[in-house]
Amino acid sequence: MKTPLCSACLNSEFLCNGCNTKIENGELTKKAVEIIRYMHELSEQFAALRDVTVKDILSYPEATILIVRPEDVARVIGKKGRTISQIASYAQKPVKVVSNTSIQDTAQSLVHPAEVKRVSTVFFPESTKKRITITAADADKIQLPLRIVNKVIADIYAEDVEITYQ
Ligand SMILES: [Zn+2]
Repeated sequence: MKTPLCSACLNSEFLCNGCNTKIENGELTKKAVEIIRYMHELSEQFAALRDVTVKDILSYPEATILIVRPEDVARVIGKKGRTISQIASYAQKPVKVVSNTSIQDTAQSLVHPAEVKRVSTVFFPESTKKRITITAADADKIQLPLRIVNKVIADIYAEDVEITYQ
């Protein structure tokens, strides 16, 4: 597993100066460190996790978001969702795994099993906004609060975001 923590810190309960600096800078939270170490432990049991690169972990009160490479999404979810459900019960909140290749892909992972119809750009005189349109019939299928979906996309892509149904 590759993670924002170095491999020494992955395997110990202490943090080296380098990794500690990431916490002090706010690049990593203590909660994220716990989750990364737990995933490393789980990789004994779920071998697919060993090849995963965790790029970042975003912690919100309502959910934890793991950002990985596109090819890692299925590895972290695991067969029948077994791996991610263990991570979620450890985190004691919903955990979503996303890639940050495009707003469309990230939004789709966040709202699954609802469907993202399209992502478009709305132009204002001084700024732009990304509008994510979700199939209206799927509104009940979204597991995260929309506010969180909105915030995650805004945080990853540094864009203003609005979510609409159609
Ligand atoms: Zn370290």
